[in-house]
Amino acid sequence: MSRIRTFKELLLLMLLGGMVGFTTSSVADEDLQVVTSIKPLHSIVSAVMSGVGEPELIIPGFQSPHTHTLRPSNMRTLQNANVVFLIDESCEASMGNATRSLDEDIKVIQLMKADDIELVRWADDSHQESHDDNDEEPEVESHRDLSMFDHHIWLDPLNAIVMAREVARVLSEQFEEHAEVFSNNADNFITKVEDLIERLTENYDAATVSLKPFIVYHDGYQSFEHRFGLDGLTRSFLKGEYTPGAKHLRDLQKQIKDLKIECVFTEPQFDDDFVDSLEDRANLKIRILDPLGATLDAGPDMYIELLENLSTSIIDCLTEDDDS
Ligand SMILES: [Zn+2]
Repeated sequence: MSRIRTFKELLLLMLLGGMVGFTTSSVADEDLQVVTSIKPLHSIVSAVMSGVGEPELIIPGFQSPHTHTLRPSNMRTLQNANVVFLIDESCEASMGNATRSLDEDIKVIQLMKADDIELVRWADDSHQESHDDNDEEPEVESHRDLSMFDHHIWLDPLNAIVMAREVARVLSEQFEEHAEVFSNNADNFITKVEDLIERLTENYDAATVSLKPFIVYHDGYQSFEHRFGLDGLTRSFLKGEYTPGAKHLRDLQKQIKDLKIECVFTEPQFDDDFVDSLEDRANLKIRILDPLGATLDAGPDMYIELLENLSTSIIDCLTEDDDS
């Protein structure tokens, strides 16, 4: 006797058994199998699905989406999904890979490809594997070679608005009977994000933020910098996801000196070894940025909290002391 694992298998068995009169036109709530990758995206999808269902989360906050590997249970979750949302297969690499072998009737949506997502280039050229060195601007709109853009798109709240709309559109197509709820939920979420943008922008305007470069753990803050007028300020400690070599460490050390860098931000999911290897550690302010919300509870409100925390950490560190 084989175990009946999925609703689809059950349905198939019933059809094979000649049972008639079964209708799938009305999808019950528990049949909404929506799967998301990282917590910020899970939060946006949760907000849109609120009152109808809850999405599954594949990559918990304390793991880097770039290096996370799927467990067999994750694979089963994906195989049972109706819709899978992820940022981009270069961001959630292993999950992106796995989605390519899923049944064709499972809808896989990479939100980085959504129209109107604002893309910002990586600060660090090493991400651009096939970048040729001419001065011509790439044809971004028609070509959209995503590899040259920072895939941490959720750190720009305007992109969260675009994502919420796209999520509502995709889910409404799949589950028409809930379309109105999805649309209302998306509107509510968007209002909250608009308030957030206003609040954060005011905070940056009000704070005496010294626009000095600062060090972040990895190159992933271009979208955030761009939205809040911090363009060009981050220097990343890691090249990609790898521990920097001696030369990179020396370069950073020199930048800290030359640019009088005071703020160094680590991330909760990485260890602190690199901070300890910096010279002059005593004169640096070591703080934490949590771009994935590793320390936050998952759910519809988590996205807003994530952006608020990120912003507060940066402002607190960059704000000049009163005695200056
Ligand atoms: Zn990253």
